Amino acid sequence: MKTIDKIYINGEFTTPKGTEYFDLISPTTNKTLGKVLLGNTEDTQKAIEAAKNAFKTFSKTTTSERIQHLKNIKSSIEKRKDDFINVMTEEYGGTFQFASVSYDYMLKSFDSAINLLNNYSFIKTMGESEVQMPPIGVVGIIIPWNSSNGFICSKLSTAIAAGCTTVIKPSEMSAQQTQLITECLHEANLPKGVFNIVNGLGEIVGAEISRNPDISKISFTGSTNVGKIIAKEAINTMKRVTLELGGKSPNIILDDADFSKAIPLAMGAAFMNNGQACIAGTRLLIPENKLEETKLLIKETVSHLIVGDPKNQNTAIGPMVSIKQYNRVQEYIQAGINEGAEILTGGLGKPEGLENGNFIKPTVFINVNNQMRIAREEIFGPVLSVIAYKTEEEAIEIANDTTYGLQAYVNSSDSERAHKVASQINAGRVQINGIGHDPMAPFGGFKQSGIGREFGTLGLEAYLEPRALIQQK
Ligand code: NAD
Repeated sequence: MKTIDKIYINGEFTTPKGTEYFDLISPTTNKTLGKVLLGNTEDTQKAIEAAKNAFKTFSKTTTSERIQHLKNIKSSIEKRKDDFINVMTEEYGGTFQFASVSYDYMLKSFDSAINLLNNYSFIKTMGESEVQMPPIGVVGIIIPWNSSNGFICSKLSTAIAAGCTTVIKPSEMSAQQTQLITECLHEANLPKGVFNIVNGLGEIVGAEISRNPDISKISFTGSTNVGKIIAKEAINTMKRVTLELGGKSPNIILDDADFSKAIPLAMGAAFMNNGQACIAGTRLLIPENKLEETKLLIKETVSHLIVGDPKNQNTAIGPMVSIKQYNRVQEYIQAGINEGAEILTGGLGKPEGLENGNFIKPTVFINVNNQMRIAREEIFGPVLSVIAYKTEEEAIEIANDTTYGLQAYVNSSDSERAHKVASQINAGRVQINGIGHDPMAPFGGFKQSGIGREFGTLGLEAYLEPRALIQQK
């Protein structure tokens, strides 16, 4: 049993003033792993104060100083690879495979922030004016549990590159992962107050970050509902917001695609991170005349997916993060049945032998129409809806008929055709014939998937505030 009873403020591990504990429960066994002492409003205010003081000097640091800080953080994270992977599998049930990818993503965040700094000019000429790009101020970073340290690394690396200081509020469910990254950041010896980390509840710590006038910007990743609450609060003090929210990503398989490759890839995209991924490809769009072939390939692929202990290196799908999330996914499977969709594989209940954890059978629905709840709402579990289409135009129309627009997938053996279709999809990223992450390309959502972009130059500029100097001769 682990007790995590420290938060991190102004360069020190410190005991929060809050007195409430939150239990950490293993999603694999539902046994108690430990508990975390939660910070309160006063703790959050202290963290903001520390970040505000640190900004006075950190905002003036040179590019080469910031690059050195980024390198130091990366090398302290590099020393703890096994610890990071272990804690991800233990705490939220991310599979060993996913945790390994996630760990690489953490490291790449620092490389891309360094790359940006080596190429970005913080003073530009626009028209006849000099445009300076100073850091925006203290940034509040609020993140979910589904890839907690990945989000800390991508957001913090950009904030540091920009010269901002930060107050980070991870999910209370991620306390062990947070402890580990905090140790690495502490070891990297950043100036005091550049990063502060407060464990706590969204309604308390997150709400204070959203309302406090000394926060200039919020970088939030999480649900669309909470994003709306944060944006409403933030507007009172005109905070800038970057919101990375939910998704219901379409995966269009065009009739000329190699189905024997595209369908296994589609299962990977649908079930990544146990289906708990904002970018999961949860609506599979199939040409009507290819449905029978698709059904066989889906059954075949899913029958080989191992569901079980996330620490096992061969496991493809681990448990849901919590019992609450398990129940939510079960309710969606029931809703699909009630709405008349047909289960091709999977269904209600737990897989045999896995009754102790929050495991779900990977579930694929066929005969889905795009108006059903399972096709419109983010489920955040391993549930896929297969939707048939007649023409390419109809496929594009269905793909875009959603309130979300985070990511999409297009598969075709004709790259020109794929490019043409991809260019008509209203999503921040469109993946063609596979899935990859380009840390120099922007990431973010159209429509209710968010506001703003992360990564690349656009991501960096979201942490900067342009100042134009217009001088009359
Ligand atoms: P969530 O929105 O419930 O919580 C996210 C964070 O917000 C947590 O730290 C939480 O404590 C905090 N929070 C909750 N209420 C708050 C409030 N009133 N004020 C301020 N902060 C508050 O999300 P979750 O369940 O932790 O994560 C799953 C969601 O995250 C899914 O919807 C998923 O799509 C989304 N997500 C999006 C991306 C992306 O990049 N677009 C990536 C991963 C996850």
